[in-house]
Amino acid sequence: MKHKVAVLGATGAVGQRFIQLLENHPDFEVHELVASSRSAGKPYSEAAKWKLATALPEGIKQKIVKSTDDVLESKILFSGLDSDIAGTAEEAYRAKGHIVISNSKNHRMDEDVPLVVPEINPEHLDMVIAQKKKYGGAIVTNPNCSTIGLVLGIAPVFNLGIDMMIVSTMQAISGAGYPGIPSFDVLDNVIPHIGGEEDKIEDEPNKIFGKFDGKGIVHAPTRISAMVHRVPAIDGHLEAVSIKFKKSVTRDEIVSLMKNYEGEPQKLNCPSAPKPAIQYFEAVDRPQTRLDRDLGKGMTVSVGNLRPCNIFDWKFNLLVHNTVRGAAGGTILIAELMLRKGLI
Ligand code: NAP
Repeated sequence: MKHKVAVLGATGAVGQRFIQLLENHPDFEVHELVASSRSAGKPYSEAAKWKLATALPEGIKQKIVKSTDDVLESKILFSGLDSDIAGTAEEAYRAKGHIVISNSKNHRMDEDVPLVVPEINPEHLDMVIAQKKKYGGAIVTNPNCSTIGLVLGIAPVFNLGIDMMIVSTMQAISGAGYPGIPSFDVLDNVIPHIGGEEDKIEDEPNKIFGKFDGKGIVHAPTRISAMVHRVPAIDGHLEAVSIKFKKSVTRDEIVSLMKNYEGEPQKLNCPSAPKPAIQYFEAVDRPQTRLDRDLGKGMTVSVGNLRPCNIFDWKFNLLVHNTVRGAAGGTILIAELMLRKGLI
């Protein structure tokens, strides 16, 4: 039997992806939809401006959107709530016994909340047990969309010992939600600022790569410097990464680790786990945003153009689909893994 779930922030860019990716999902069925008071009380097809290239699922069209004040029947809540409301709303749902798996920034760095990329730190999900005892329910968070691409791109080589790295991102406009950035600002342009984004990319990886000691996370010590740019692509964040390792590392070592990388979701055959988790390209002009963002149904992170760096050791490019692997798809994969680990 499928688990009934609710989508919080169901009308937004991430909420729409949830609805798209959960259509015919083997484990989960969308039962309830939640958005702001602007949308509550309306049928979903009226409340949302559907912006995806697949049809709005029939079973969703007539569902009446609920507000965050309504009592929800679903145990599992997938959250794409605006960060202005996510902090308090997600805590309130946790106190009512729900399992909230969230894309919002608000609880990512809370000491008792795991920040999870299923291939990298599945053991952090055990923090849910202590949360359930303390609050009745639990919050689990999905990292920032650029962070997810970065940490998956470097995960195969992380244990070789990374001293520091610099990452420059070229981020799509869907990362700013809908309607997002005015076309007058972004067309024919690159904007070298996204509020709060650099801090997230610099801080979140060290929690994700941190060690769970049974109580909390001891953060990893990697030094990261991030520079972010908004570019006129619809979906897909491209990132240029330079890495300094603690010891000498060969190109062959890196390529072999990249090509053979997999995690628990692949081993457990989670429905959304991409195979391969990382697509490694030898071509010097890949990955490219438009050509490669949909690999593995948007769940594969692609890496390419690996070359020596004159300042650090190695540099390469990577690409992540920001609303799939970087948001809704990554969150659904967390839930699939929690289910298989007996945490839901
Ligand atoms: P969005 O398109 O602006 O959607 C925001 C959603 O929140 C809408 O459904 C909106 O409902 C709802 N909402 C706003 N105020 C509310 C309130 N007071 N009470 C209840 N619901 C409210 O934003 P988004 O891009 O989907 O992002 C959603 C969250 O995911 C954000 O926290 C964002 O930072 C994070 N995130 C986004 C991406 C991405 O690539 N877009 C990636 C990772 C993480 P109405 O339609 O009724 O206003």
